[in-house]
Amino acid sequence: MIARLKAALEGAQSVALVCHLSPDMDTLGSAVALRYILEAQGKRAVVYDQDEVPERYLFLEGLDAVRRPDGEVYDLALAVDVSDEARMGEAARVFAAARSRAMIDHHRTTAPFAPVYVLRPEAAATAQIVAELCAYFGWEIPQPAAMCLCAGMSTDTGNFSFDSVTGDTFRAAGACVDRGARVSAITERLYRTSTLGHVRMMGRVLNGLEMRCGGKIALLCARQSDFAELNATREDAEGIVNLGLEIEGVQAAALLTEREGLIKCSLRAKEPLDVSAVASRFGGGGHIRAAGCSFEGAALEEARERIARALEEIVS
Ligand code: 5GP
Ligand code: MN
Repeated sequence: MIARLKAALEGAQSVALVCHLSPDMDTLGSAVALRYILEAQGKRAVVYDQDEVPERYLFLEGLDAVRRPDGEVYDLALAVDVSDEARMGEAARVFAAARSRAMIDHHRTTAPFAPVYVLRPEAAATAQIVAELCAYFGWEIPQPAAMCLCAGMSTDTGNFSFDSVTGDTFRAAGACVDRGARVSAITERLYRTSTLGHVRMMGRVLNGLEMRCGGKIALLCARQSDFAELNATREDAEGIVNLGLEIEGVQAAALLTEREGLIKCSLRAKEPLDVSAVASRFGGGGHIRAAGCSFEGAALEEARERIARALEEIVS
């Protein structure tokens, strides 16, 4: 399959790199890195995402050139870090219109939706797979691509701290550092800089913390009124779910975020719990210890109770 991906990439003159909606650093970093890598080989490559690139990622070169879906037709469309077709949102149009399709992903819930696919659930990040493929194919990683891949691996692994991290992750990251990725610059921007909205949102959400099941489950909620009152963006609520999991004795944490017409739920768990199964029950998915789903047309309280009950079933 890896040889088929190589042939597909080599045979294409134009490539669309398609990211998932609400893009994270792994999908964007992997796609933008591939853009640089393919451009270095004389190809035309364009990165697509339905949604805007979060501002805090814009310090990386190339992240400002991500396009919204349009009517262009490419030789090859490559879905990057996309666990199911619906996760491309409107960018699925670009994917469907291409003359051929492929995918690279590491989510354990992913089923192939393209004829050519490299799916490696044991990889800590899609960016790790991209770095490994480059080493395997003997492809040059330009410096901006090395930065993007290093940042993607870092964010998907909690800055190289999750149990998904293996020697291969460090070897892939090491290869990026050798090609000019600056770990200190990435760390400074991603982990030592917060927006005022994020800090305020943390305070508000933690203030409403609810403990369930004798302290084994932490429930957090971010309401639309919180965002409005604190002048916070959707992005500002990201990562707050992890604070719930930091509490001693907590096995699973959920953050329910109220959006227009739906409730978005982020789930996190400690070993050995599997929240991807919980997310899948509600039509979502993700990784064993980090997953998500959404409830359309539900009230926050209703979604919270459904999630709480599902989590109660899996905690010990
Ligand atoms: P987060 O909680 O940070 O939004 O997402 C955690 C993980 O779960 C990510 O890998 C993300 O791709 C996945 N995820 C979040 N929401 C959904 C969803 O609604 N559907 C699927 N399939 N995966 C999701
Ligand atoms: Mn990923």
